[in-house]
Amino acid sequence: MDLNYSQDETTFRDEVRAWLAANLPADLRAKMLNYEALTKDDLLRWHRILFKKGWVAPEWPVEWGGTDWTVVQRYILEEEQGYAGCPPLVPFGLRMCAPVLFRFGTDAQKKRFLPRILSGEDFWCQGYSEPGSGSDLASLKTRAARDGDHYVVTGQKIWTTMAHYADWIFCLVRTDTNREKRQEGISFLLIDMRSPGITVRPIILMDGGHDVNEVFFDDVRVPAENLVHEEGKGWTVAKHLLGYERMGTGRIGQSKRELQTLKEVAAGQMKDGKPILEDPRFRDRLTRVEVELMALEITNLRFLDQLRGGRPPGAEVSLLKIKGTEIQQAITELMMQAVGPFAQAFKPVDNMDFDHFTARLAARYCNMRKTTIYAGSNEIQRNIIAKATLGL
Ligand SMILES: Cc1cc2nc3c(=O)[nH]c(=O)nc-3n(C[C@H](O)[C@H](O)[C@H](O)COP(=O)(O)OP(=O)(O)OC[C@H]3O[C@@H](n4cnc5c(N)ncnc54)[C@H](O)[C@@H]3O)c2cc1C
Repeated sequence: MDLNYSQDETTFRDEVRAWLAANLPADLRAKMLNYEALTKDDLLRWHRILFKKGWVAPEWPVEWGGTDWTVVQRYILEEEQGYAGCPPLVPFGLRMCAPVLFRFGTDAQKKRFLPRILSGEDFWCQGYSEPGSGSDLASLKTRAARDGDHYVVTGQKIWTTMAHYADWIFCLVRTDTNREKRQEGISFLLIDMRSPGITVRPIILMDGGHDVNEVFFDDVRVPAENLVHEEGKGWTVAKHLLGYERMGTGRIGQSKRELQTLKEVAAGQMKDGKPILEDPRFRDRLTRVEVELMALEITNLRFLDQLRGGRPPGAEVSLLKIKGTEIQQAITELMMQAVGPFAQAFKPVDNMDFDHFTARLAARYCNMRKTTIYAGSNEIQRNIIAKATLGL
């Protein structure tokens, strides 16, 4: 097993690093570093800069605007973006709907949707979860009844990230209520968010931010040509997509950058006349997180080496989701500990060294609780590993 970058890969990393340093707008970087909320325009601005460079979807086939890069090159671009403080690329179109269309879409669906996903013209969201149907997704109730060349959709989705920005939603809907096996009555539909009968209501998270929504469907007519794969085969599509969802949750580059910031913050905050960075208990916890992050990076490189050899990793990629999100949360906890009483401030305190940044830490801490829940909760990931890898 070779866990080092080759000479070519190191050259590529340097090229990516230099390009990001020259092309990431300073205001977007500042927002990211200060944990400020990003607007739809912010997200799309970065998407379009990468699109122009040809780097927005390196994993797509070349004929559709992707690259012929190796998995290692793709990983390098992703992690370098995290490390540099780039805004995230919204995954719903690029990394969820697109792989589904490549695998199951008709030619007409591919031609219609893929170019607009790539350019950022269409903003997508994911309509899977419903009240009472999150981990137990197969219990979903949103109904799609066939009526001539349309489906009529009625029901509710919840926790729909960025539905308030979205032009389109991909949805799991129930097209057959009489199947003994719940999974067999489910289909995968693409729905125009401007369709009459759709209502989007905000859910305000505990940090005060508006990321997620409830989406209501009230007799929404959807052309049958927007069905992906066969009717009743939506569960197969959903499983294909969830694998892609989990690949991007490790966020090692971002955690490395944040850990570096944490050390700088802790070096400047005094406790009992000494920087908190020198406090043995703080150092102990910090070091544990740092070691875990190094272990996560090595694990990720092991998966990459497997992929390089043509062997796709199995259910064990759930490890990346579990450890990656636990580390992200631990960093927010240590940040709060490092700034002590200032962590609770809702607005900058006069004469504070880290005023703008520090004022966002409590909100950031609250917001990051979500990471162990979304994309399949960490408990569910542990179940997956237990069943598929350990055979329990
Ligand atoms: C910020 C945020 C953004 C989201 N964005 C989207 C989105 O864009 N689109 C979308 O479709 N969904 C989205 N979700 C929903 C997310 O996928 C669900 O919240 C998640 O799957 C958990 O489902 P639930 O909330 O219904 O909790 P439940 O499934 O009710 O789980 C509650 C608790 O019980 C545990 N639990 C449940 N079943 C088991 C089990 N079998 N074994 C052990 N423990 C179990 C869970 O781990 C959890 O701790 C988002 C969620 C959040 C928080």
